[in-house]
Amino acid sequence: TKKGRVFSGARPTGRQHLGNYLGAIKNYVAMQDDYDCVYCIVDVHALTTMDTTMELRTNTYDMALDWLAAGIRPEESIVFIQSHVPQVMELHTYLSMVTPLGKLTDLPTFKEKVRQNPNNVNYGLVGYPVLMAADIVLYKADYVPVGIDQAPHLEFTRECVRSFNYRYNCKALIEPQMKATEFPKVLGIDGVQKMGKSLNNHIELASTPEETAKRVMTMVTDPQRLRRTDPGNPDVCNVFSLHKMFTSAEDLANINVECRRAGIGCVDCKKKLAANLNSHFEPFRARRAELDQKPDHIWEILDDGAIRARKIAEATMVEVREAIGL
Ligand code: ADP
Repeated sequence: TKKGRVFSGARPTGRQHLGNYLGAIKNYVAMQDDYDCVYCIVDVHALTTMDTTMELRTNTYDMALDWLAAGIRPEESIVFIQSHVPQVMELHTYLSMVTPLGKLTDLPTFKEKVRQNPNNVNYGLVGYPVLMAADIVLYKADYVPVGIDQAPHLEFTRECVRSFNYRYNCKALIEPQMKATEFPKVLGIDGVQKMGKSLNNHIELASTPEETAKRVMTMVTDPQRLRRTDPGNPDVCNVFSLHKMFTSAEDLANINVECRRAGIGCVDCKKKLAANLNSHFEPFRARRAELDQKPDHIWEILDDGAIRARKIAEATMVEVREAIGL
């Protein structure tokens, strides 16, 4: 028997990169051993910042493919698309009634989004955390794996639950716990900014070995190390950071020593990293190619997930509507 239910959602961003893998997918796979997991592709959330939905379907497909190839087991875990369970929109509306507007506009993530794009502050963007709260509580999640940046959102969700239960004098919604998870912040190949698709500083899991190597060879290393004969500093090198994730302890120790005394150059160090990434993701890529042979099967998995998700969702909504008196 499992220790409770975990919920996590991610926007459909297409082919996943090393940041997604180390920061999310790897945990998703591991948590399946101990928890009932509900993993949601949050397409409605994606709409808040999208001008066009042209790529929505392929991005959803590609992300699902990566999740499944990485080891998410759809027979055990519920994997589905957010909009396929419209109950979440209904719950979002009810939760919005117990949410003071100021609480939303005070959230650091909201302020950051406004800074980034001051001309496109739509109503949905303000309500993003309410929809997120609806997702989590609709499935009666006990735990939500979150990194530091999402902690205020989870705290908001917990307050939402308390306000709702208090206002309607009920216990219909349950307060999710934060499952503090080690989320490494993976830097991009520029070595400075967070790895991300929009910055085009990412390395995709599904790349060919050649593409992967090409990408790794362009990585920025210790900026102080100008010549092959200069000693390097692994502590400030993003190639070394990735070695920590994909290289054996023995090789890692060796690189650490040799870099500092210019025994190994950046080119050789990168070649090692590329080789290790490629061998690490070889089984993933094989599974992905196999799954990609039957696209219909991927959509069937998502449909089946939605059926199971809707069952839980509707049961929650029956309680919610009754509590409100609707
Ligand atoms: P979302 O808006 O759904 O978080 P992202 O594609 O930005 O969409 O992220 C999906 C998941 O991957 C999130 O859990 C996020 O924390 C993780 N992630 C994305 N980029 C990185 C990165 N560079 N380092 C660590 N984790 C990352």
